[in-house]
Amino acid sequence: MLRALRSQRLGVDLGTANVLVYQVGQGVVIDEPSVVAVSASDRRIEAIGHAAREMVGRTPGSLRILRPLQDGVIADYLVTEAMLRYFIERSAGRYRMFRPEIMVAVPTGVTTVEQRAVMDAGIAAGAKRVHLIPEPLAAAIGANVPISLPSGSMVVNLGGGTTEIAVVSLNDIVADCSGSLRVGGNRLDDAIRTYIKRKYNLMIGDRSAEEIKIRIGSAVVLEPAETMEVRGRDQVQGLPRTVTITSDEVTEAIAEPVEQILRGVRSVLESTPPELAADIIDKGIVMTGGTALLRSLGKLLSRETGIAVHVAETPLLCTALGTGIALDHFDMLQKIVISHP
Ligand code: ADP
Ligand code: MG
Repeated sequence: MLRALRSQRLGVDLGTANVLVYQVGQGVVIDEPSVVAVSASDRRIEAIGHAAREMVGRTPGSLRILRPLQDGVIADYLVTEAMLRYFIERSAGRYRMFRPEIMVAVPTGVTTVEQRAVMDAGIAAGAKRVHLIPEPLAAAIGANVPISLPSGSMVVNLGGGTTEIAVVSLNDIVADCSGSLRVGGNRLDDAIRTYIKRKYNLMIGDRSAEEIKIRIGSAVVLEPAETMEVRGRDQVQGLPRTVTITSDEVTEAIAEPVEQILRGVRSVLESTPPELAADIIDKGIVMTGGTALLRSLGKLLSRETGIAVHVAETPLLCTALGTGIALDHFDMLQKIVISHP
């Protein structure tokens, strides 16, 4: 028992939409949105995670809602640091005598300065050692992709702010094939909101748009079609109004950002060396991240590329699971994991 406590290790998925903490030996202990509410006057932190998310769209003027990681980069690093510290303390707090060792998955677009900020935040939060792993690699590990084989595998990690498309082989990301596309679930939500505003003169909030996407959204037209009632505010009269939206309309609304994702995958495939491309054709493409749950996105991607596509079993958890597993496999990840101190 004591030994288990002393060697407490945490894997952290610092995502643009969600932060997850995986405790080795326990599983996922924190799963909360990456949202922070600060006071408008002095930027004091008022709420983090679920509590802050509840306030989205309902804040009094004195509060501002921040998403400190935007488009896969740290938009506000003091707030990111505070959020990271809060989640780490909450998972490790009970055993404060034993400082945890943590593995944090960071988006591929993060700069060296930001990497340093994440490491410092981890240390400030009480970690004795902080390791960083690129998110698509952690996602691949969490999705059971055999990353240590001398054979290429393609992972498409679709999050809230970004889509990361990476070819992994020999425990590394094949450099010229990795890239991060600033299109993810948030852009799908925006597209739905804009569509409803244009077509029905109805203003809806971010959360309603996301709910529509999750309930009736599909990359390919659904048969039979599904419908959903949507409440918003009439742009002309300013009064609340309800309209019924069909899944076909949602498919149409999100067509453009979905196409951008497909184009991204196609262009990475085109720049992949032939041997690795042949491996990918053999093994297929693995999709991870919350947006991988968008209905028929895998089917569409497969149709567009001619390659089999598998959606990971628990796409929202892959990165967190991968960070936990990575903590047990340092030896083979030396090339790519950065550690401090
Ligand atoms: P990040 O790594 O950026 O934090 P996640 O992997 O946690 O992102 O995924 C969050 C995104 O997944 C959000 O945009 C959310 O709306 C989307 N999402 C979650 N569940 C579904 C679903 N069932 N269908 C479509 N999108 C979903
Ligand atoms: Mg993620």
